[in-house]
Order: sequence, then structure tokens, then C-alpha cells
Amino acid sequence: MTFSIHGLPVARGIAIGRAVLVGSSRVDVAHYFIQPGQIDAEIDRVRVGRNAVVDELQRLQHAMPKDAPPELTALLDVHLMLLEDETLTTGVKHWITDRLYNAEWALTTQLEIIARQFDEMEDEYLRERKADLEQVVERILRYMKGAVSPVALPVPVRRKAGQHLSPDENLTVPLVLIAHDLSPADMLQFKQSVFAGFVTDVGGKTSHTAIVARSLDIPAVVGARSASQLVRQDDWVIIDGDAGVVVIDPSAIILAEYGFKQRQGELERERLARLRHTPALTLDGQKVELLANIEMPEDAVGAVHAGAVGVGLFRSEFLFMGRQGKLPDEEEQYQAYRRAVEGMQGLPVTIRTVDIGADKPLDKGQKEDHYLNPALGLRAIRWSLADPAMFLTQLRAILRAAVHGPVNLLVPMLAHGSEIRQTLALLEAARAELNQRSVVYGPLRLGAMIEIPAAALTLPLFLKYFDFLSVGTNDLIQYTLAIDRADESVAHLYDPLHPAVLRLLSDTIQACLAQGKGVSVCGEMAGDVAMTRLLLGLGLRSFSMHPSQILAVKQEVLRADTSRLARWAQQVRDAEDPTQAMAEPLAARTSKESGWDSGLGPLSTH
Ligand code: PEP
Ligand code: MG
Repeated sequence: MTFSIHGLPVARGIAIGRAVLVGSSRVDVAHYFIQPGQIDAEIDRVRVGRNAVVDELQRLQHAMPKDAPPELTALLDVHLMLLEDETLTTGVKHWITDRLYNAEWALTTQLEIIARQFDEMEDEYLRERKADLEQVVERILRYMKGAVSPVALPVPVRRKAGQHLSPDENLTVPLVLIAHDLSPADMLQFKQSVFAGFVTDVGGKTSHTAIVARSLDIPAVVGARSASQLVRQDDWVIIDGDAGVVVIDPSAIILAEYGFKQRQGELERERLARLRHTPALTLDGQKVELLANIEMPEDAVGAVHAGAVGVGLFRSEFLFMGRQGKLPDEEEQYQAYRRAVEGMQGLPVTIRTVDIGADKPLDKGQKEDHYLNPALGLRAIRWSLADPAMFLTQLRAILRAAVHGPVNLLVPMLAHGSEIRQTLALLEAARAELNQRSVVYGPLRLGAMIEIPAAALTLPLFLKYFDFLSVGTNDLIQYTLAIDRADESVAHLYDPLHPAVLRLLSDTIQACLAQGKGVSVCGEMAGDVAMTRLLLGLGLRSFSMHPSQILAVKQEVLRADTSRLARWAQQVRDAEDPTQAMAEPLAARTSKESGWDSGLGPLSTH
């Protein structure tokens, strides 16, 4: 039966595929695809693990004292029976052989399927056997953990979304990922894999998980509440990343309709691709800088390919995540930054110092006291200043990478003059250390992120010390409106067009322009085509976004006339209801007497 779930759209397009549920079982395991040649070895790993558990339980059974409570013996019998169960073994074999799941993933997938069957049982005693099954599987997994496992790298063996589907196809069927929650580090792992789309129960539009999803350039919906409960393993699912809708078990008519939409989207992309080499100039000849946000050095290739004229935000923290606390040393970081710089082929790279904390823990499941109130806790520059040795290591690595091309250093979450001064002192110390070691380093342009209202309200302080400012609207909105950006329950209040946000943004742009300092926006707002004209009207000429959004924003730039947008943008900024004011020029566009319009050129389809 077809049904749909609504969530928040985060990445455009339509994906159609079979559901892969991850992390929904209480057992947390690695998920990766194996090569066909590894199938037998993977099945063997499960078999060895299972046999070990059988042996262990049988030993326990034999060693059981005569006067042991009968429930205990019965429990061991049940566990042994579950281990012998065909449904478990054949199911696991199916996931490994037909879907190329690694052994642990296959086991937890089958666990979920059987667990659901238990949930649906009328008999209470049988329903409760689910807990036994979970225990048994956990035991097998523990045994398997001790055994050597292959390198956990996803292998691209599946076809991309958008190709014709046939339910008979196993290895080539597109897969969509459904999870309760995914950490940004999880998402990064999926970056090298094959999913055609993804859905999570939780998360806001600018949560870091959503941001990484956007960088994958696959349709995605977050905040879909109960999706991971309602969707079953292997269900056919449509993800509409434009509307934020997830359709489960679609009928043939619905499939055809979305298939059509999918092809339309592809045609639109092909059309936009023609703009790749077109300079980003407005109708009135204003040059606009379109930069890329990247998470890993390897993303630089995609950024150049998308026509970015530099990297406006390299979120360096992704180098620090998922390493069980072992942080990258100077050499490793230097090599990573160098790869990004060289990948940009002479174009500037803005490396942001590590922004760990809030919804970006170093390791999954990490819970420390300051994570109790994560967004307001020890995050970003606060975290760096709390560990000067770690910070100095990063600064030295960035300084060294600057030998290989133009590098800007960007500091996140600054609010206090003392933080600025400490940061600059540490930068000086990093230079001194390199001098002492006779290691060469390059020049850096220094930038501060404006992400906290306190920073936006004390701009002269920032302009005194920095060469440029970059507005992190994701956090600026979060902190101005007191809205946790990762919390879908307040997502409706997360408003880039709130007058307070627009005021802080506009003041920052104007203050930089007045002093001839560089200013850009690197939050998600910069990649939102609905915001391009407004930002241009407010005076912004430098936008940093995910590479996948560059061409669509460029199209808006090419259609804009900034000489006409400035007055309109001021009216929007000063309006009681800017959202309403944004819509008004559409009606007034042809109004000659008003003397201004939306600034849209003749190409506009708005
Ligand atoms: C921002 O806050 O807008 C920003 C770009 O930084 P991040 O999303 O990584 O917090
Ligand atoms: Mg931020």
C-alpha cells in the first residue's frame, strides 16, 4: 500500500530505490559493500561467529548445576533454537550474496526483519523473544569483532539513480538510505558509496548531516520523524528532495510520475552545465565570486569542475572525526591541506580551523558534559583555544600548506576580543616554531567567521584584526533566533529572513564594504537560489556554497541587475515581514512609476 511521509527537503532531485535501513537496530555496526569475490569469506565469518556462540551456549548448558532454575535452562534452549533458525541464516546469506552487504550489516538487517515479525505476533511470550534474538545476534557480532575483518570501504558496485528499474535486478538496483539519525562523520563515509538518496527521522535543514548530504548532491529529506519505523528493509521508496516527501511502496502511476520528474531534473542539470565556463557577471556588469564549500581535500576536484573560483570554506573538522580520539598530526594535516590547495590549481583555498562540537562530535556516541548543551558549549574556536597544542599543530600545518598556493585562514565562532588576540598570538607562535625548525611556510590572509550576534554587533573589532569576514549564516541564524539548527521540532522557526538576521547580515556586508575589506557568506543561505537576489541587493559579491549549487546560483546572478536590486533589498531588510516583502516586487516588476523592480533580467522565469 502506497503511503507518504513528510519531512524537510535538504538536497534537490528525485531518487527512486530500495530502502536500506541502517543503525536502526540497537547494535551499532559498520556498513559497507563487499566485492563479489568476498561473498564466501563474509558468509564464513558469520558462520564462524555463529558456531562459536553455539559452542559457548552448549558448554554453558553442560556446566549447568542440577539445581539451576528451570527458566535458565529454557532460556539457553531458546537461544540455541534461535541460532539454528533458518530464517536467520538464509536471510543473512541473502543480504551478503544478493546485496553485497558486509557480514555485520547483513546480520543486523536480518535481525531487524525478524524483530519486526516478533513485534507483530499476538502471543506475548513469543513477542518477548525479540529480546533473546537481539542478545544472540549481539553475541555473534561480538565474536566477529574479534576476527579480522576486511577494510571498511564502500565499493561502488551499484548503478546510479535515474536509470530504469526492474524489480528483478539485484546487484544493479539503486539503493536509498533510511536512518533514524546519521552523524556528519557517517555521512562522510557514505560520500564514497552508492546511495541514490537518503532520509533521516531527525535533523534540521542546516544540521551538519544535512549539509554533508547536500554535498553528496543526492536527493535527501531530513526530519521525517518516523521514517525509520515505517519503512521496511528493501521497500521501494521515492525521495522527493525538492518537496521533502518520501513515498513508500509507490504504485505504478506514482512511479511513472516521479520517473518523469526525475528526467526533467536531469535535463535541467544538463542545461545548467552549459554555464560552467560563463563568467558570473550580473546584467549591470558586477563581478560575483562563486566559491565552493568542501569537507575533504578530494572535494577540490569537484569544486573546480563545478566552476568554483576558489574554496570559500574548507570544513577542516572532517579530518578530525571518527578517529577514536587520535587526532591527525601536523604532517597528516599538512598533506591534506596541500592536496586541497594543489587540487584548486592556483585558486584560493579558505581553510577554516577545526569546528568540533555541537552536532559534530569527534566520535560517534561521544557524550561529554559540554555536549549537554552542545550548540552553546565548547565548540569551534573555544575548543581550539582550550587545547593550544592541538591548535598550534593545525596552524603550523595550514601555514606550511600555504607554500603551495593562495591560502586564507578562517576562524569560526569568535565572539570575544580576547579570543581574537589569543588566536593571533598562537598563529605567531606557530610561525615562530616553524622558523625554529627551519620549515618553510607561506603567507595567509586572515578571516573571521561572523556566526554569533555578538560578533556582528562589534564589527570594528573584527575589522581591526582581520583581512576579511565570512558570514556563517547557519550559526548566525541559530544564535540570533535561539533555534537549535539540528532540531527538526523548531525547524519552522529557523528563518533566514527574520528582520534581526537580515539586519546583522546587512550591517556586516556594509561595514566590510565601507573599509574595503572582503566579505562573503558561506552558510547554506549562499547556495539558496531564492536568496541570491536579496544577497546581491544587500551588496554581497562573494558567495560560498556546495559545488552542486554553484551553477544554479550563477544562473540567478546572470539574470540579476544589482543597480535595481539595492533599493528593493533595503526595503526587504527593513520590512516588518521580509518574506512578504520578498514576494512583492514580483507584482511590481513591470511597474514603471515605482522606478524599481526585482532586478530580474529578461531571462527570468520567475
Ligand atoms: C555556518 O555556520 O553558516 C557555517 C558555514 O559553518 P558550519 O555550518 O560548519 O557551522
Ligand atoms: Mg558555523
